[in-house]
Formats: sequence, structure tokens, C-alpha cells
Amino acid sequence: MIISVKNLVKQYGSFEAVRGIGFEVQEGEIFGLLGPNGAGKSTTLEIMETLRLKTSGEVLIGGFDIDKDPNEIKQIIGVQLQTSGFYPALKLVELIELFAGLYNRNVSPMELLKKVNLEDNAKSVFKSLSGGQKQRFSIATTLINNPKIIFLDEPTTGLDPQARRNLWELIKEIRLQGTTIVITTHYMDEAEILCDRVAIMDAGKLILLDSPDRLIDQLLQTGFERKKESKGANLEDVFIQMTGHALREGA
Ligand code: ADP
Repeated sequence: MIISVKNLVKQYGSFEAVRGIGFEVQEGEIFGLLGPNGAGKSTTLEIMETLRLKTSGEVLIGGFDIDKDPNEIKQIIGVQLQTSGFYPALKLVELIELFAGLYNRNVSPMELLKKVNLEDNAKSVFKSLSGGQKQRFSIATTLINNPKIIFLDEPTTGLDPQARRNLWELIKEIRLQGTTIVITTHYMDEAEILCDRVAIMDAGKLILLDSPDRLIDQLLQTGFERKKESKGANLEDVFIQMTGHALREGA
């Protein structure tokens, strides 16, 4: 396993936001952290990213203990930076050079931009990008230090259906290159398509952990039936069909 979390607790004052959760992530997996707002997903993610201190429990990332070796962990993980840090007037190549300098890494900005299908925008400034392009760029910045694990926090929130599909393809490609991906999302279709396994949190507790397929089967075994027989297509299919393909330019 590449991530191991045991008995993780996080208290904010007297409020317990994460209440003793545990899970493991296997190398090469796309692992989803799901749950309603306030469930404790971001807290858990940020503790794994070494950006927030835990109250108690044990967290190992790539074999390194989060208490003892946070600097080793920072070397092997990729974290999405707040886009507010993307100086809006700098060109994408310049931004990558800037971040590479911060990470003390030598990267080829064009190669990195190619990976996220933004090579034609190399000379564009960040603020001129579409929503989907901004997200792809943000994912590119997680890859600068050639990490073993990347953490993506709601990467497709606010994107149109084409841009979301486009991002799913990118995330799958990154995984194919051997990178482990931990992702949070509010979109269950996205989790079902992307994730090998999902952990569902609620009110600081981990309530389910399995592959989407097995979780659905377990629900069906309880006798659950969908209220309405669904048609062979939905409104999103109509939208995609009528407005162009997933990999449309600019998405
Ligand atoms: P999620 O990402 O699942 O929406 P969070 O981890 O952001 O959940 O938050 C879990 C709970 O902890 C929420 O009730 C939130 O209000 C609370 N919380 C988060 N950060 C802080 C903080 N810095 N101080 C106090 N309470 C916080």
C-alpha cells in the first residue's frame, strides 16, 4: 500500500471533525474520498498532504510517517495549488518555470503542458484560459515534481460536461503512467467512472469503503430499487450529443 491511515482524529477546539477513521490506498489506484459537505474530506486530505496537523492517529504516505518525515512526503506528492497563486499576468510556461524553481526541479515546461494538452496555450496568460483549461493547468502543476501520488480536491467542480469528460481522460492518463490519485468529488457519476475504490465519509466517520461496483451490488442486495425506470439516455447525453464531443477545443 502507498497510503495508510489509522485511527485518524482531528479536533478543531472541542469539535471533532474527523473521528477515528482508517483506510489504505494501493499503489496505482484512483481512490475517491466522498461525502456530504462537512463530512471531513478536506481535513483528511490536507492532513495527508502535510498541510494540516492531525490531533491523533497514524498516517503513512509512501512509507513515510507524517509526523517524522513531512519533508520526505512533500517530495513524493503533488498537491493542487490555490489558483489565486497563479499570477494572472504570467504566461503558462513562465508559471511552470516559477513553480519548478520553488520545487527546485528541472522540468521542460512544454513537455508538461503537452501532457495536459495545453501546448497551444503555452504563451497564454492564466486568466485567459477557459475553466477546463485552468483545471488542466492546475493538474499540470501537481506533476512538476514527478510525484508518486497526487491529490485532487474537487477538480471538476463548476466545469461544463465536455470539460469534465476531458479532465476524466487526463486523470486516467496520469494513472496509466503509474501515479496514484486521491480525489474528492461531489459527483457520483465521476466517482463511478474514475475510482477503483471509494471511501464514503459522513460526520467525521468512514461509513463505507469498496469499489463502486461492489457498493452498488450491496445496495441492490438489500432489495433497493430505483423509483423510476430510467430511459436509455439522460439529459446530459442530449447535451453532449448536441453541443459537440468531449475533447472539443477549449474544453
Ligand atoms: P468537507 O471537506 O467534507 O466538506 P471539512 O473537512 O472541510 O469537510 O470540514 C469538516 C468539519 O470541520 C466541518 O464541520 C467544518 O465546519 C469544520 N472545520 C473545518 N475546518 C475548520 C477549522 N479550521 N476550524 C474549525 N472548524 C473547521
